[in-house]
Amino acid sequence: MGTVNTVLGPVDASKLGVTLSHEHIATGSAGMHTTYPQFFDRETVVRDAVSALKEAHAEGVRSYIEPTTFDLGRDIELMQEVSRLSGVHIVAATGSHQAIPRIFRTVSADAIAPLFIKEVEEGIEDTGVKAGIIKSASDRGGITELEETVLRAVAMASKHTGAPVYTHTWSPDRVGEQQVRILQEEGVDMNRVYIGHSNDTRDVDYIIGLLKSGVWVGLDRFPGGRFPGVPLWQERTQIVKRLVDEGWGDRIMLGHDHSVPSGQPTPEMREQRANYQPEGYSFISRNVLPYLRELGTTEEDVNQIMVENPRRFLEG
Ligand SMILES: [Zn+2]
Repeated sequence: MGTVNTVLGPVDASKLGVTLSHEHIATGSAGMHTTYPQFFDRETVVRDAVSALKEAHAEGVRSYIEPTTFDLGRDIELMQEVSRLSGVHIVAATGSHQAIPRIFRTVSADAIAPLFIKEVEEGIEDTGVKAGIIKSASDRGGITELEETVLRAVAMASKHTGAPVYTHTWSPDRVGEQQVRILQEEGVDMNRVYIGHSNDTRDVDYIIGLLKSGVWVGLDRFPGGRFPGVPLWQERTQIVKRLVDEGWGDRIMLGHDHSVPSGQPTPEMREQRANYQPEGYSFISRNVLPYLRELGTTEEDVNQIMVENPRRFLEG
Protein backbone atom coordinates (compact mmCIF):
# COMPACT_ATOMS: atom_id res chain seq x y z
CA MET A 1 0.00 0.00 0.00
CA GLY A 2 1.06 3.57 -0.67
CA THR A 3 1.04 6.67 1.44
CA VAL A 4 -1.38 9.59 1.48
CA ASN A 5 -0.35 13.19 2.15
CA THR A 6 -2.06 14.69 5.18
CA VAL A 7 -1.55 18.05 6.92
CA LEU A 8 0.80 16.29 9.38
CA GLY A 9 2.76 14.55 6.64
CA PRO A 10 2.51 11.30 4.71
CA VAL A 11 0.41 8.57 6.31
CA ASP A 12 0.36 4.90 5.38
CA ALA A 13 -2.88 4.46 3.43
CA SER A 14 -3.82 1.46 5.57
CA LYS A 15 -3.94 3.81 8.60
CA LEU A 16 -6.64 6.10 7.18
CA GLY A 17 -9.49 3.98 8.55
CA VAL A 18 -13.02 5.36 8.45
CA THR A 19 -12.76 8.45 6.23
CA LEU A 20 -15.38 11.15 5.69
CA SER A 21 -15.01 12.33 2.11
CA HIS A 22 -15.92 16.04 2.46
CA GLU A 23 -15.69 18.16 5.64
CA HIS A 24 -14.43 21.57 6.68
CA ILE A 25 -13.30 23.13 9.91
CA ALA A 26 -14.58 26.48 8.68
CA THR A 27 -14.92 28.24 5.34
CA GLY A 28 -14.61 31.92 4.52
CA SER A 29 -12.59 33.99 2.10
CA ALA A 30 -8.91 34.22 1.22
CA GLY A 31 -7.11 36.32 3.83
CA MET A 32 -10.24 36.76 5.95
CA HIS A 33 -8.72 35.41 9.17
CA THR A 34 -6.10 38.14 9.24
CA THR A 35 -7.95 40.99 7.47
CA TYR A 36 -11.38 40.62 9.09
CA PRO A 37 -10.73 38.78 12.35
CA GLN A 38 -14.13 40.10 13.54
CA PHE A 39 -15.62 37.36 11.40
CA PHE A 40 -13.36 34.62 12.68
CA ASP A 41 -12.72 33.67 16.31
CA ARG A 42 -9.85 31.29 15.75
CA GLU A 43 -9.51 30.05 19.31
CA THR A 44 -13.18 29.11 19.56
CA VAL A 45 -13.16 27.48 16.14
CA VAL A 46 -10.15 25.32 17.08
CA ARG A 47 -11.74 24.36 20.39
CA ASP A 48 -15.07 23.42 18.77
CA ALA A 49 -13.52 21.57 15.83
CA VAL A 50 -11.24 19.55 18.11
CA SER A 51 -14.10 18.67 20.42
CA ALA A 52 -16.42 17.65 17.54
CA LEU A 53 -13.68 15.63 15.84
CA LYS A 54 -12.74 13.92 19.09
CA GLU A 55 -16.36 12.85 19.45
CA ALA A 56 -16.33 11.53 15.88
CA HIS A 57 -13.02 9.78 16.54
CA ALA A 58 -14.49 8.07 19.60
CA GLU A 59 -17.23 6.77 17.29
CA GLY A 60 -14.80 5.44 14.70
CA VAL A 61 -13.85 8.31 12.36
CA ARG A 62 -10.10 8.43 11.68
CA SER A 63 -9.68 10.72 8.67
CA TYR A 64 -11.42 13.24 6.46
CA ILE A 65 -10.81 15.12 3.24
CA GLU A 66 -10.92 18.92 3.65
CA PRO A 67 -11.62 20.57 0.28
CA THR A 68 -11.08 24.07 1.66
CA THR A 69 -9.19 25.86 -1.08
CA PHE A 70 -7.27 29.16 -1.05
CA ASP A 71 -10.38 31.14 -2.02
CA LEU A 72 -12.37 29.52 0.83
CA GLY A 73 -9.87 30.81 3.37
CA ARG A 74 -7.73 27.68 3.62
CA ASP A 75 -5.50 27.85 6.71
CA ILE A 76 -3.01 25.01 6.83
CA GLU A 77 -1.72 25.82 10.31
CA LEU A 78 -5.27 25.76 11.66
CA MET A 79 -5.81 22.36 10.04
CA GLN A 80 -2.55 21.08 11.50
CA GLU A 81 -3.46 22.26 14.97
CA VAL A 82 -6.91 20.65 14.80
CA SER A 83 -5.48 17.40 13.41
CA ARG A 84 -2.80 17.22 16.10
CA LEU A 85 -5.25 17.89 18.94
CA SER A 86 -8.08 15.66 17.68
CA GLY A 87 -6.05 12.73 16.36
CA VAL A 88 -7.97 12.81 13.05
CA HIS A 89 -5.99 12.76 9.78
CA ILE A 90 -6.84 15.64 7.44
CA VAL A 91 -6.14 15.63 3.70
CA ALA A 92 -5.74 19.16 2.28
CA ALA A 93 -6.73 20.56 -1.11
CA THR A 94 -5.37 22.69 -3.89
CA GLY A 95 -7.44 23.99 -6.81
CA SER A 96 -10.25 26.48 -6.41
CA HIS A 97 -13.79 26.91 -5.20
CA GLN A 98 -16.09 29.46 -6.88
CA ALA A 99 -14.40 32.62 -5.58
CA ILE A 100 -11.80 32.13 -8.28
CA PRO A 101 -8.89 34.55 -7.88
CA ARG A 102 -9.46 37.51 -10.21
CA ILE A 103 -6.01 37.15 -11.68
CA PHE A 104 -7.07 33.80 -13.19
CA ARG A 105 -9.33 35.72 -15.61
CA THR A 106 -6.31 37.06 -17.38
CA VAL A 107 -4.36 33.84 -17.84
CA SER A 108 -4.84 30.48 -19.53
CA ALA A 109 -5.30 27.05 -17.96
CA ASP A 110 -1.66 26.28 -18.83
CA ALA A 111 -0.55 29.13 -16.58
CA ILE A 112 -2.79 28.07 -13.69
CA ALA A 113 -1.97 24.35 -13.67
CA PRO A 114 1.61 24.82 -12.38
CA LEU A 115 0.25 26.67 -9.30
CA PHE A 116 -1.77 23.58 -8.37
CA ILE A 117 1.08 21.21 -9.28
CA LYS A 118 3.39 23.10 -6.90
CA GLU A 119 0.91 22.62 -4.04
CA VAL A 120 0.76 18.87 -4.69
CA GLU A 121 4.45 18.26 -5.31
CA GLU A 122 6.23 20.81 -3.08
CA GLY A 123 3.58 21.97 -0.66
CA ILE A 124 1.15 24.75 0.16
CA GLU A 125 2.67 28.18 0.86
CA ASP A 126 5.83 27.50 2.88
CA THR A 127 4.29 24.82 5.14
CA GLY A 128 5.63 21.82 3.23
CA VAL A 129 2.11 20.33 3.48
CA LYS A 130 1.22 18.67 0.20
CA ALA A 131 -2.31 18.76 -1.18
CA GLY A 132 -3.95 15.35 -1.61
CA ILE A 133 -6.73 16.45 -3.97
CA ILE A 134 -7.20 19.10 -6.68
CA LYS A 135 -10.57 20.83 -6.53
CA SER A 136 -12.81 22.51 -9.04
CA ALA A 137 -16.26 23.94 -8.34
CA SER A 138 -19.41 24.80 -10.25
CA ASP A 139 -22.91 25.23 -8.91
CA ARG A 140 -26.44 26.15 -10.01
CA GLY A 141 -26.71 26.72 -13.74
CA GLY A 142 -23.56 24.81 -14.62
CA ILE A 143 -19.97 25.58 -15.48
CA THR A 144 -19.08 29.21 -16.21
CA GLU A 145 -16.36 30.16 -18.65
CA LEU A 146 -13.90 30.96 -15.88
CA GLU A 147 -14.77 27.77 -13.98
CA GLU A 148 -14.08 25.83 -17.17
CA THR A 149 -10.62 27.36 -17.39
CA VAL A 150 -9.93 26.30 -13.80
CA LEU A 151 -11.37 22.82 -14.39
CA ARG A 152 -9.04 22.37 -17.36
CA ALA A 153 -6.10 23.53 -15.21
CA VAL A 154 -7.17 21.05 -12.52
CA ALA A 155 -7.26 18.31 -15.16
CA MET A 156 -3.74 19.18 -16.32
CA ALA A 157 -2.46 19.21 -12.74
CA SER A 158 -4.05 15.82 -12.05
CA LYS A 159 -2.51 14.29 -15.17
CA HIS A 160 0.88 15.71 -14.21
CA THR A 161 0.87 14.69 -10.54
CA GLY A 162 -1.49 11.70 -10.38
CA ALA A 163 -3.40 13.48 -7.57
CA PRO A 164 -7.15 13.16 -7.97
CA VAL A 165 -9.62 15.70 -9.33
CA TYR A 166 -12.29 16.53 -6.76
CA THR A 167 -15.39 18.54 -7.59
CA HIS A 168 -18.17 20.63 -6.09
CA THR A 169 -21.41 20.44 -8.06
CA TRP A 170 -25.10 21.22 -7.92
CA SER A 171 -26.54 17.82 -8.73
CA PRO A 172 -30.15 18.97 -9.45
CA ASP A 173 -28.68 20.76 -12.49
CA ARG A 174 -26.61 17.65 -13.45
CA VAL A 175 -23.40 19.68 -13.25
CA GLY A 176 -21.34 16.51 -12.71
CA GLU A 177 -22.08 15.41 -16.27
CA GLN A 178 -20.61 18.64 -17.67
CA GLN A 179 -17.51 18.19 -15.52
CA VAL A 180 -17.05 14.58 -16.69
CA ARG A 181 -17.31 15.70 -20.33
CA ILE A 182 -14.58 18.32 -19.93
CA LEU A 183 -12.34 16.00 -17.91
CA GLN A 184 -12.71 13.33 -20.59
CA GLU A 185 -11.76 15.91 -23.25
CA GLU A 186 -8.63 16.63 -21.22
CA GLY A 187 -7.79 12.92 -21.07
CA VAL A 188 -8.01 12.57 -17.29
CA ASP A 189 -8.17 9.02 -15.90
CA MET A 190 -11.78 8.75 -14.67
CA ASN A 191 -10.56 6.54 -11.82
CA ARG A 192 -8.83 9.71 -10.50
CA VAL A 193 -12.03 11.79 -10.44
CA TYR A 194 -14.47 12.40 -7.57
CA ILE A 195 -17.77 14.09 -8.43
CA GLY A 196 -18.91 15.61 -5.15
CA HIS A 197 -22.23 16.79 -3.71
CA SER A 198 -24.03 14.20 -5.82
CA ASN A 199 -26.76 13.58 -3.25
CA ASP A 200 -28.76 16.79 -3.43
CA THR A 201 -30.84 15.03 -6.10
CA ARG A 202 -33.40 12.22 -6.15
CA ASP A 203 -32.40 11.31 -9.69
CA VAL A 204 -30.58 8.04 -9.14
CA ASP A 205 -30.19 7.60 -12.91
CA TYR A 206 -28.06 10.75 -12.94
CA ILE A 207 -25.81 9.30 -10.23
CA ILE A 208 -25.55 5.93 -11.99
CA GLY A 209 -24.76 7.69 -15.26
CA LEU A 210 -21.80 9.37 -13.55
CA LEU A 211 -20.67 6.05 -12.05
CA LYS A 212 -20.84 4.41 -15.46
CA SER A 213 -18.31 6.95 -16.75
CA GLY A 214 -15.82 5.46 -14.27
CA VAL A 215 -15.66 8.24 -11.65
CA TRP A 216 -16.04 8.07 -7.87
CA VAL A 217 -19.19 9.67 -6.52
CA GLY A 218 -19.39 11.71 -3.32
CA LEU A 219 -22.71 11.42 -1.46
CA ASP A 220 -21.26 14.01 0.82
CA ARG A 221 -24.07 16.24 1.99
CA PHE A 222 -25.60 14.47 4.96
CA PRO A 223 -28.07 15.13 6.47
CA GLY A 224 -29.34 17.43 3.72
CA GLY A 225 -31.89 20.14 4.36
CA ARG A 226 -29.61 23.15 4.05
CA PHE A 227 -31.33 24.01 0.78
CA PRO A 228 -35.09 23.91 0.10
CA GLY A 229 -36.48 20.95 -1.83
CA VAL A 230 -33.51 18.61 -1.52
CA PRO A 231 -33.89 15.11 -0.07
CA LEU A 232 -33.35 14.58 3.66
CA TRP A 233 -31.05 12.04 5.25
CA GLN A 234 -33.43 9.08 5.30
CA GLU A 235 -34.01 9.35 1.57
CA ARG A 236 -30.30 9.97 0.99
CA THR A 237 -29.54 6.80 2.93
CA GLN A 238 -32.08 4.82 0.89
CA ILE A 239 -30.29 6.02 -2.25
CA VAL A 240 -26.98 4.74 -0.84
CA LYS A 241 -28.64 1.36 -0.26
CA ARG A 242 -30.03 1.31 -3.79
CA LEU A 243 -26.59 2.10 -5.26
CA VAL A 244 -25.06 -0.72 -3.21
CA ASP A 245 -27.80 -3.09 -4.43
CA GLU A 246 -27.09 -2.08 -8.02
CA GLY A 247 -23.41 -2.92 -7.61
CA TRP A 248 -21.87 0.52 -7.00
CA GLY A 249 -20.83 0.01 -3.37
CA ASP A 250 -17.18 0.08 -4.39
CA ARG A 251 -17.39 3.56 -6.02
CA ILE A 252 -19.20 5.80 -3.51
CA MET A 253 -18.10 7.80 -0.45
CA LEU A 254 -20.00 9.61 2.29
CA GLY A 255 -19.54 12.93 4.06
CA HIS A 256 -21.44 15.80 5.69
CA ASP A 257 -19.92 18.98 4.20
CA HIS A 258 -19.91 20.07 7.83
CA SER A 259 -18.13 23.06 9.32
CA VAL A 260 -18.28 24.08 12.95
CA PRO A 261 -21.04 26.60 13.81
CA SER A 262 -18.55 28.95 15.53
CA GLY A 263 -16.81 29.40 12.16
CA GLN A 264 -19.85 31.28 10.83
CA PRO A 265 -19.42 35.08 10.72
CA THR A 266 -22.50 36.25 12.69
CA PRO A 267 -24.34 35.05 15.81
CA GLU A 268 -27.50 34.40 13.75
CA MET A 269 -25.62 32.24 11.29
CA ARG A 270 -23.86 30.39 14.09
CA GLU A 271 -27.20 29.59 15.66
CA GLN A 272 -28.73 28.58 12.34
CA ARG A 273 -25.83 26.24 11.59
CA ALA A 274 -25.93 24.69 15.07
CA ASN A 275 -29.67 24.01 14.75
CA TYR A 276 -29.31 22.61 11.27
CA GLN A 277 -26.80 19.96 12.22
CA PRO A 278 -26.02 19.54 15.92
CA GLU A 279 -24.32 16.15 15.45
CA GLY A 280 -21.55 17.55 13.27
CA TYR A 281 -18.97 15.09 11.99
CA SER A 282 -20.74 12.24 13.85
CA PHE A 283 -24.11 12.35 12.05
CA ILE A 284 -23.23 9.57 9.62
CA SER A 285 -21.88 7.18 12.29
CA ARG A 286 -24.87 7.85 14.53
CA ASN A 287 -27.69 7.85 12.00
CA VAL A 288 -26.78 6.91 8.44
CA LEU A 289 -24.76 3.76 9.11
CA PRO A 290 -27.27 2.28 11.59
CA TYR A 291 -30.10 2.96 9.11
CA LEU A 292 -28.07 1.38 6.29
CA ARG A 293 -27.61 -1.74 8.43
CA GLU A 294 -31.31 -1.73 9.23
CA LEU A 295 -32.02 -1.66 5.49
CA GLY A 296 -29.86 -4.75 5.11
CA THR A 297 -26.50 -3.35 4.03
CA THR A 298 -23.74 -5.74 5.11
CA GLU A 299 -20.81 -4.83 7.36
CA GLU A 300 -18.56 -5.59 4.42
CA ASP A 301 -20.35 -2.99 2.26
CA VAL A 302 -20.24 -0.40 5.07
CA ASN A 303 -16.52 -1.00 5.42
CA GLN A 304 -16.08 -0.73 1.65
CA ILE A 305 -17.81 2.68 1.56
CA MET A 306 -16.28 4.18 4.71
CA VAL A 307 -12.75 2.71 4.65
CA GLU A 308 -11.75 0.99 1.43
CA ASN A 309 -13.14 3.45 -1.13
CA PRO A 310 -11.53 6.60 0.30
CA ARG A 311 -8.27 4.73 0.74
CA ARG A 312 -8.25 3.44 -2.86
CA PHE A 313 -9.26 6.87 -4.15
CA LEU A 314 -6.61 8.78 -2.21
CA GLU A 315 -3.72 6.39 -2.69
CA GLY A 316 -4.37 6.11 -6.45
ZN1 LIG B 1 -17.72 21.82 1.18
